[in-house]
Amino acid sequence: MKKDRDNSFYLKEIDRLRKERNAVILAHNYQPEEIQLIADILGDSLDLSEKAAEVKEDVIVFAGVSFMAESAKVLAPTKTVLHPVPDSRCPMADMIDGQKVRELREQNPDAAVIAYINTNVETKMEVDAVCTSANAVSVARNFPANKIIFLPDINLGRFVKNQVLEKEFILYKGFCRVHEYIKARDLRRIKKEHPEAIVLTHPEANEEVCDLSDHLLGTGGMINFVADCPLKQFIIGTEEGLILRLRRDFPDKEFFPAQPRIICSNMKMFTLRHIYLSLKNMHKEVILSEEVIEKSLRSLENMFKYGNS
Ligand code: SF4
Repeated sequence: MKKDRDNSFYLKEIDRLRKERNAVILAHNYQPEEIQLIADILGDSLDLSEKAAEVKEDVIVFAGVSFMAESAKVLAPTKTVLHPVPDSRCPMADMIDGQKVRELREQNPDAAVIAYINTNVETKMEVDAVCTSANAVSVARNFPANKIIFLPDINLGRFVKNQVLEKEFILYKGFCRVHEYIKARDLRRIKKEHPEAIVLTHPEANEEVCDLSDHLLGTGGMINFVADCPLKQFIIGTEEGLILRLRRDFPDKEFFPAQPRIICSNMKMFTLRHIYLSLKNMHKEVILSEEVIEKSLRSLENMFKYGNS
């Protein structure tokens, strides 16, 4: 097999092509570090959705799983959105589809449906509102319905239900394998090793792990918390890409994973070569019909409408 080129070639070419194509690279906090370092915008799902809607460039290269690139296309339909690794999908998003949402609605005609942004576009077309882990509580609280079907993540659903006590919830039983992999016994051990550390965990983790944590936050919330906190040690219960970012952004603080090797293999499929080839050949473009964009935009717009308080 032909020897792969070294990173300096890809870095130089990505910079050249990014200018030539008038492109912007958006990357999720769980991306490999080499991708994080070339991103124009690095963030969580909420940051990236907001920024996608505002970009001035003609082309968006999205380094994240496929539902994120789809959301970028829905929010910026006039832009060319490239998803360099189409096989990079979120297994939790694949646990639900439009047909299952329609069945749930038939069984619960008086309930609104709120979907985590970790859903594919055909699911978003069928739901009333979307949310991220950062604004899920606000969306559920402010959406005008007393009964809510929350999907697909049962752990995030439980987190929301425990805070929006005035409403009735039906929780779908989807889950994230990456966050479910964090085990309470490992977290207990890490806490013993670092008794001064504050534990920040993603609400996609299981109930026992969440109960052992000091704060439940999405990745953007964790970054803000660390920035504002005078303490120096943190145990982080989420994908290790975020820990790499925290170590870069806060070199005077220490970060310990809630357990070793919390890795989303789908997020880690991206390499510099993929970004280079995507910009060079302008592939794989995310193509969505007008109908799909219109229907799924409604639920994303409701996230911005109901999620801001
Ligand atoms: S970390 Fe979990 S929810 Fe996020 S993309 Fe990976 S599998 Fe999906």
